[in-house]
Amino acid sequence: MEILRVENLTKVYGSSDTRVTALDGVSFSVEKGEFVAIIGPSGSGKSTLLHILGGVDRPSGGKVFIDGTDVYSLDETRLAIFRRRQIGLIYQFYNLIPVLNVEENIALPTLLDGQKVDKAHMNEILTTLSLEDRVKHLPNQLSGGQQQRVSIGRALINSPALVLADEPTGNLDSKTSREIVELLKISNKRYNQTLVMITHDQSIANQADRIIRIVDGHVAELGAGRAS
Ligand code: ADP
Ligand code: ADP
Repeated sequence: MEILRVENLTKVYGSSDTRVTALDGVSFSVEKGEFVAIIGPSGSGKSTLLHILGGVDRPSGGKVFIDGTDVYSLDETRLAIFRRRQIGLIYQFYNLIPVLNVEENIALPTLLDGQKVDKAHMNEILTTLSLEDRVKHLPNQLSGGQQQRVSIGRALINSPALVLADEPTGNLDSKTSREIVELLKISNKRYNQTLVMITHDQSIANQADRIIRIVDGHVAELGAGRAS
């Protein structure tokens, strides 16, 4: 089943002498449960693409369909709700709320949505991420790897259709990076969750079902990952 379809996306930043075409006609689709790695040189448009997939940054042209919804046909209010329910975002620098503890940071998308957190689901996430003994800690009391695990929990709490990760291991040592990728793969397989991850690390990209290479705002190559 197709969960994500991108049609002829374009993104232009600035105007006249500051004009940059960051995306220039990007099309692809992703099946439910797939793990797709996005690779490509710095400045090629990867983060711009991920932000557009995540409902964060409007494209200049083209369409994004997530689970059948034409994302940018939604008004801002509906888009914000759709984003909280259907998209989990993971960043290189965690973006946790410093005054909220581990459990509160993970619960945030559910609480913002006016829903109650399911205790069993929260406990399962804390256990999967080995954060059971850090529930009341604040972000600055955690190591980098632990903070990234919290941000993964926050991305998973609403069981979104799509998990998007922008260089999630970019700030971590290689051992911690491997652990984080293993956790993302576990949630990808265990919950049949779709994962799209930007990475500079070829050994991580090789673990994906498929690799999409972006060069100069184009899809340069749709390569096979571990399937090959
Ligand atoms: P990547 O993630 O592959 O490094 P980006 O998507 O960050 O690439 O950037 C693609 C191009 O768009 C670059 O030339 C960058 O300078 C430009 N760009 C990115 N974000 C902005 C912005 N907010 N305003 C203007 N130009 C931007
Ligand atoms: P790592 O080995 O992953 O780099 P650290 O050396 O940063 O981890 O931290 C080791 C342990 O100490 C972690 O379990 C973390 O929760 C705890 N810790 C780190 N910094 C603090 C802090 N400022 N306050 C309380 N606990 C901390």
